[in-house]
Amino acid sequence: MIGSNKNILILGAGESGIGAAILAKKMGWCVYVSDRSEISSENIKTLNDLDVNWEHKSHTYNDLSNINLVVKSPGIPDDIDLIVNLKNRGISVISEIEFGGLYNKAKTICVTGSNGKTTTVKWIYSMLKNANINVGLAGNVGDSFAKQVAEKQVDWFVLELSSFQLDGIVDFCPDIAILTNITPDHLDRYNNSFESYVESKFRILKNQDVQHWFIYNADDNKIRSHLEKLDLKMKTASFSLHKKVMGGYIKNEEIIININKQFNMSIHELALKGKHNTQNALAAGMAGRILEIRKDLVRESLQNFTNLEHRLEVVAKVNGVEFINDSKATNINSTWFALESMEKETVWIVGGQDKGNDYSELAELAKDKVKAIVCLGLDNHKIKEAFSEIITDIVETKSAKEAVVQASLFARDGDSVLLSPACASFDLFENYEDRGNQFKAAVRAL
Ligand code: ADP
Repeated sequence: MIGSNKNILILGAGESGIGAAILAKKMGWCVYVSDRSEISSENIKTLNDLDVNWEHKSHTYNDLSNINLVVKSPGIPDDIDLIVNLKNRGISVISEIEFGGLYNKAKTICVTGSNGKTTTVKWIYSMLKNANINVGLAGNVGDSFAKQVAEKQVDWFVLELSSFQLDGIVDFCPDIAILTNITPDHLDRYNNSFESYVESKFRILKNQDVQHWFIYNADDNKIRSHLEKLDLKMKTASFSLHKKVMGGYIKNEEIIININKQFNMSIHELALKGKHNTQNALAAGMAGRILEIRKDLVRESLQNFTNLEHRLEVVAKVNGVEFINDSKATNINSTWFALESMEKETVWIVGGQDKGNDYSELAELAKDKVKAIVCLGLDNHKIKEAFSEIITDIVETKSAKEAVVQASLFARDGDSVLLSPACASFDLFENYEDRGNQFKAAVRAL
């Protein structure tokens, strides 16, 4: 892919684009950065310091006939004219992960899936640190992979990979690949085809060979049925909450991992609660044991991990009511696990920008756990339709503050209020962090 002509066009000057520019410059490429939106002043400074050419607020790609390689930000869809045009000219369009991978010498543990990626990569990263392994954290979290490849010398990278990043890989190959689960998400970017989204997640295995590992969720029907169609060369290990599998599973409330001798610990010792986090712990523990991290260090890491913000984050107890911020739950599956983990009567704050949700999947749990629903979104008709027969109290609100006040009117001493929206946040908020922060501020103002 890298010939003697080294002119690279980097599309998008966010975290990944700037990282790619830093690495490209270091590796002797002639770099051109283009962003259709405004580039932040901080990033402009970085580009100027690097002495690379850049443009923003438009792509003047017609001038770029000498380009040999394009690195595209994962936020830019593949079907826009510019990308189609570049590909028609035979120019290779790759992701920053692929570009970083061209120069990376460290081994990689890569996590993908619809939910649980960030939690799992951070858990693995903290385990490797705890074991004194020289490790970097990259992908969708932290500094960009390419930037770290340019600037750091590590033995391992733990990478969080979205389906968009995987769409842009060619030769990139994880030493250990982890697939947490696959449920419908982002289908707007996959022509509403769940199958295309599934294919995209499985690209993580594309270049793996006999020496590599693949860890997957054996309780996930979609993963299992897709695997039946594949002829896998790599070493595999799976995890399950329900059955004994080759890898990691639960028996009598104990985690058992059968990789490089048996490891076990009680699920009650895990730092994070909820079945989904038990799955994440299994995946993290299995990666640790593949690396032959000592059992006591694996145990310690699974016991001591601080919960991440906006993911079933306990905010405060007000008048005996516990408020929980799960703003990162932007699809049905993550909200399913949130509701499943609720142990008290729950007032559920739900709604936002719908991505084609089928709320019937939550009906049974809602019936069991939810005493009232507070909708937080511009258009709540689907939620009202789905739950009006099982939950009497459903109100609509249009701000986090209003939602918290309404929820606290329904909640009694000993209840919980759960913000787990199952939807994107962009109808009323900047992003999920903004939604979670406004929720927390409203709780603290009660
Ligand atoms: P991602 O990076 O894949 O979005 P996060 O770890 O940030 O995943 O968690 C996103 C949401 O999904 C949170 O609401 C969290 O509580 C929930 N979640 C975490 N792990 C899992 C899992 N293994 N299965 C389902 N939901 C999960």
